[in-house]
This record gives sequence, structure tokens and C-alpha cells, in this order.
Amino acid sequence: MADSTTRAGVFSAQELLRQLPSVDELLKLPRLMALAEKSDRTLVVDTARNVLQELRKRLASNEVVRPESLEAAQIEARVVAIVDEFLAPSLQPVINATGVILHTNLGRAPLATATADAIRATATGYSNLEYDLASGQRGKRDVHVARLLRRLTTAVDAIVVNNCAAGLLVTLAALARGGEVLVSRGELIEIGDGFRIPEIMEQSAATLREVGTTNRTRIADYENAITEKTRVLLRVHPSNFRITGFTDKPEAAELIALGKRYNLPVIEDLGSGLLADLSSLGIAEPTVGASVVEGFSLVLFSGDKLLGGPQAGIIAGEKDAVAKVRRHPLFRALRVDKLILAALEATLRAYLQSDWNAIPAQHMIRASLKELEQRAGKFVASVQAALQPGDAQLVLLNGPSVIGGGSTPTAELPSRLIRVASHRYSAVQLEQRMRRPAAGTPVICRIADDGLLVDLRTVFPEQEATLSAALIAALR
Ligand SMILES: *Cc1c(COP(=O)(O)O)cnc(C)c1O
Repeated sequence: MADSTTRAGVFSAQELLRQLPSVDELLKLPRLMALAEKSDRTLVVDTARNVLQELRKRLASNEVVRPESLEAAQIEARVVAIVDEFLAPSLQPVINATGVILHTNLGRAPLATATADAIRATATGYSNLEYDLASGQRGKRDVHVARLLRRLTTAVDAIVVNNCAAGLLVTLAALARGGEVLVSRGELIEIGDGFRIPEIMEQSAATLREVGTTNRTRIADYENAITEKTRVLLRVHPSNFRITGFTDKPEAAELIALGKRYNLPVIEDLGSGLLADLSSLGIAEPTVGASVVEGFSLVLFSGDKLLGGPQAGIIAGEKDAVAKVRRHPLFRALRVDKLILAALEATLRAYLQSDWNAIPAQHMIRASLKELEQRAGKFVASVQAALQPGDAQLVLLNGPSVIGGGSTPTAELPSRLIRVASHRYSAVQLEQRMRRPAAGTPVICRIADDGLLVDLRTVFPEQEATLSAALIAALR
């Protein structure tokens, strides 16, 4: 260290400072000249200035500075690296090897290529977004997906906003502003990233009226709380937790009957928005259609959870209730853009054709254990063939994939996992090496029992070669 470094105190700081090139000198260097020409010149100038500033500061505070780092060529390289990094995309694709299908941090539902094509076609030109081709008159953007949503949910009408949180906000603002909304204490949920039912309620200028207790709420608790201020009875899907043990909550039918008796709308925030029944896979999640048939005035659900489409919030239900929400000024503020409508329409059309290949999240949920076992076996063989005998241990084991996305907290899908252990790296180090590869796509994995776990359920077959290359590189 001592012979390759220099202490500003030994050589005078003045002397070292004088050695530093000026910004103008730096900008005459060939790589910086080229960079300033092909990208933003002020970005290059600012970066050069910052790098010099930082070196001056370090010298002035007597920090240990390698003499080479004061040379123009090194400073140039550093400026280029900083500018390149700044200009590189921040939002980038990753491979999801966690087995969590609707992973909120990884963008929830991936879309099929056909859906992306629909986005592209709409994005790169003009469209009939709000134009009725038959009459040549102004149209409404709602019509493109409303007909499909009506068909798939049996609701009389449906509209779409930015996400389900926005859906609840505008619904309560339109139907309960200035009045009270009754919610069971067992349903005052918080979903990830600060979606809290009581706070949404406050923003919609409705007053939350809690009924019952955390674990037991009876229909009489709702009825006893009804006053002339009551505007809405709200039921919220307990998306990311379960209360078990000594519990009670009224049947949907009881709540709906109570609403009818008092002429109050009964609204269900379903969260997930399952359109096609999954009970054959052991997933006891109610469908949107079942809630509509049950008689809720409005049912609210997300576009990018179990539905498997783009981020959106769908409000489906009775004609008058939908119309009231549609008329509220917040609806205009929270409406979705044409790209989302294109993606949602493509996804909903795939439902009508039961085309699960066109809805990757649904396809992943439906992947069989046998299929995953075969894929995992082949994958392990291909990785092992490229490794030296002592490099790593790869074993297959049974374990769960998770649906995720605050949809069905306890639903797990049996999967075949690949456990990777290395003699060279700990599981934590391996996880980091996969996440931050020297080259190529970052891979996100799980860690369990000091082993790295790879679940192919959430890996697209066409990503397997990239994944195996990443794993081999990480193990070396
Ligand atoms: C996830 C969820 C929401 C929020 O949905 P976003 O589309 O993410 O805004 C609202 N309510 C429930 C019950 C949920 O599960």
C-alpha cells in the first residue's frame, strides 16, 4: 500500500493539486471529446467537474490517494465510466428464479409477446382510442375493454383506472364522500408499500366506521352500526394474511341482503381478480364472477395480480354505481392510458379463448409438477456438464412455488426446486453473484437453509440457457 500510494501531507497538497488537469484539458482528451459529441455535452462537463472536485477534496483533507488516479488518462476513464453508467437503463429485465409468480418487486405479471405486440401497435401510431369508427364521432376509451369485462365477469358494466388502490379511492369518493363506510376490524388491511384501507378512506373524504373485532365480526355488528350517515358496506379481501382459530365473519349473501334492506351499496375489494376458476389446482380463491353473481354492487380488482395483465384497477358491477364512479372528477385523474388498454384488451381476449400461453402468470400457475421436474432435471444435467466435479452440488428437491402479489397468501403450488451449494461461495455470496453478474441479465433467486434455490416455474423456457450460463459463471 505504502509504495503505491502517496499521502498529500508528504508531497505538498499544493503540488498534487497543481498536477490535476483542468476541465478544459480533460475535455480535449479523445474519449471525452467523442463522448461529449455523441451524448449530452453538459453531462460530460458536469461529470468531469465533479470528479476533479472530489479529487481536490480528498487531497485537501489529506486522504491517501493513488498517484495514478491523478493522471489525466485515469480521470478520463473514470468520467467515461460514470457517464456510461448514468446513461445505461435503470429499469431493466431480470430473470425471476424465485418461484414467486406475482412478485411485486419484480413487476408482478409478465405479459406475453402477443400482448406486447398489441402495446407496440397502439404505441407507435394513432388509434381509435376515443373515436367511434362506425359513426365517425367522438367515442369513449372505456368501450374497448368494457365489453370483454362484462362478458368475463357477468357484471352489467365495468371501468378501468390506474390500479386497484385508485379504484377504491375513486369508488369511495364517489359513493361515500362525507358519510360513513362500514368495514370489519378483521379487514383493515395494509398491502405492501403503504396501501392502508383506513388511509385510502381518509383521502376519499369518507369516514371509516369499524365494526366487530379482529377475529370475529357478525352480521349484527354491521346492522347495529348503520345510521343515517352510512353510505357503503365494504368487504375487503384479506389478501396477505389469514386469521385462523376462533373466527367468524358473515357470508357475502348476508351482507348483501343487509345492504338491500337498508338500500346501501355493498362493495367488495377483491384485490386479486381471479377470472378463471383455479379450484382444480387446490386454490380456493373466489372468482370475480362469483362475487358479481353473489350480488355485490361493485367488485374491485387488480389487472396485474391473478388476472395476469398490465397494472390496472377494474371496477365492475351495477350500472348506476359504475356510472356514479365514472362521473367523479377523480376518475378522469386516475384513468388508464392507451397502452394499458391495449394490453388489458389482449389479455382479456386470451381469457375468452382459454389461451393460457397468452397469459404467462396463468400459464406458470398451471405448470404441472411433472413438467417442472423434467425441466429441472434437464437444467441440472446441462449445468453439471459444464462444471468441474468439485465446483458445486446441485440437487433437486420438492418445495413450494408461491403465487404472491397479495393474492392468495396461503396458496402454494408444489414445485421441483434446484438447490445449489458451492464449496467456494456461501449461499449469500452466490445469490449476490447471480443478482449482480459481470455481464448479462441479473437473476433473482431464493435462499433457504444456506443453499441457493432456483425454481424454474417463473423462468421462461427461452431464458433457461441464459440462466444456466449465469449459474455456471457465478459458481466459477
Ligand atoms: C393488492 C390489493 C390492492 C391494491 O391493488 P393495486 O392494484 O396494487 O393497487 C387493494 N386491495 C386488495 C384487497 C389487494 O389485495
